[in-house]
Amino acid sequence: MKKKFCPKCGKETDELYGGVCLECFLNDMKVDWLPEYLVVDVCKHCGYYYHGKERFKNVQTLLRKRLKNLFKKHKASILSLKVLKSKLRLELTLEKSGIEKRIVKKLPLKFHYITCPYCMMKRSGYHNAVLQVTLPSHVSKEDIISLVEEEVKRLNKRDPMAFVSGIEEKGKSIIFKIGNKSTALKLMREIKKRYGGKVKYSRKIVTKKEGKNLFRLTVSIKIE
Ligand SMILES: [Zn+2]
Ligand SMILES: [Zn+2]
Repeated sequence: MKKKFCPKCGKETDELYGGVCLECFLNDMKVDWLPEYLVVDVCKHCGYYYHGKERFKNVQTLLRKRLKNLFKKHKASILSLKVLKSKLRLELTLEKSGIEKRIVKKLPLKFHYITCPYCMMKRSGYHNAVLQVTLPSHVSKEDIISLVEEEVKRLNKRDPMAFVSGIEEKGKSIIFKIGNKSTALKLMREIKKRYGGKVKYSRKIVTKKEGKNLFRLTVSIKIE
């Protein structure tokens, strides 16, 4: 068998990979395309992480999504991704000419504390629906308020517009200002399921958008 030498390091080798020995070939497989650090937006009120308008409960999920295209472009895949305090630990494999190399990288994370668009709306008192609950004396206001709060917390996991931006008490009624119509309807159904009651709907034009009237829905439920 004819001897081969690596033109890069001069070592004798049985086989050449891309014209060099395996050691040199692997040394040339580098990750120099990752940013120096990553900035992640996190809402200081709700604790969700944001990538543009998209929100994530879990920072790992956000980072995975953010790095996906970059990894694809460089023919790399993520083996594991962990966040330890303010560092991202990436375990990845690079692939070139059928040879894989495993690399561990650590990237600093810089958390940027923001007020997310939904918390902004909630704090400004924005509401697209009103839920009015009228109670008889045997039902306490506290029970209704905690029922609404619990339900909203549950619904908000799937729908960021599921929030209460204000609560008012008026005589025997409690008025909840709700982010969107579907949440107001779901809350009404939950109250009706537990307490019964008569439901009425009304709508009011609040503003015009591109020539269309925008309505705010009021759902009234009277528990008897
Ligand atoms: Zn070599
Ligand atoms: Zn928020």
